[in-house]
Amino acid sequence: MRPPLVLFDLDNTLVDRQGTLASWVAGFVARHGLGEVEYEYVLGLVRERTYPATFEAIRARCDLSAPASELWDTYCRDIAAMVSCPAEVLDGLDELRAAGWRVGVATNGMADIQWAKLRATRIVDHVDGAYVSGEGEVRKPEAGHFALAAQRCGTALSDGGWMVGDNPVNDVGGGRAAGLHTIWIAHGRRPWDPSAPAPDHTVSCARAAVDLLLPGVSRLRGRT
Ligand SMILES: [Mg+2]
Repeated sequence: MRPPLVLFDLDNTLVDRQGTLASWVAGFVARHGLGEVEYEYVLGLVRERTYPATFEAIRARCDLSAPASELWDTYCRDIAAMVSCPAEVLDGLDELRAAGWRVGVATNGMADIQWAKLRATRIVDHVDGAYVSGEGEVRKPEAGHFALAAQRCGTALSDGGWMVGDNPVNDVGGGRAAGLHTIWIAHGRRPWDPSAPAPDHTVSCARAAVDLLLPGVSRLRGRT
């Protein structure tokens, strides 16, 4: 029997993407001499997911002279420098591994920005492996994404495992469809949509998910 597997989403699960983004947009707007209308516009565009093409739109709308590729590179550098993973969560990843878990990251997004964040936060040093959708063609909630993340951790989905994340569709729905138990990070502010299959557990933050998993590997493995 292989070690039990737990996969974590990255943005707004292991790191606070939304808080970081708001600060970054404020700085971007100030640097380029833009106003409140542009602040809302840029924040609206980058809120869910940001791609190099996002900066083509921003450049055109805000009349910026810098090429979109340069704006994207700066964005990647800035966000990687600003984002952080709480020490208690990094410790929790270590504790899970010490308790016999295989621990990984399964995240959607462009490979350059997601890997920059994984390295800058040192999450990469505290997990067995990570898979970013931009490395290939398979995105959450597709089951293949979770399979590739498991493979990066030196294991497979065939023994089951857990998926922890904040996105009801990508993390909970996708994880469930891939045969994983699920923990939803609700951040204490949103109700679950009753029309969707419920997660196995709902917690307020990543550390709470770690604490839920730590007490007994064998007990959690036996869940159906
Ligand atoms: Mg997320």
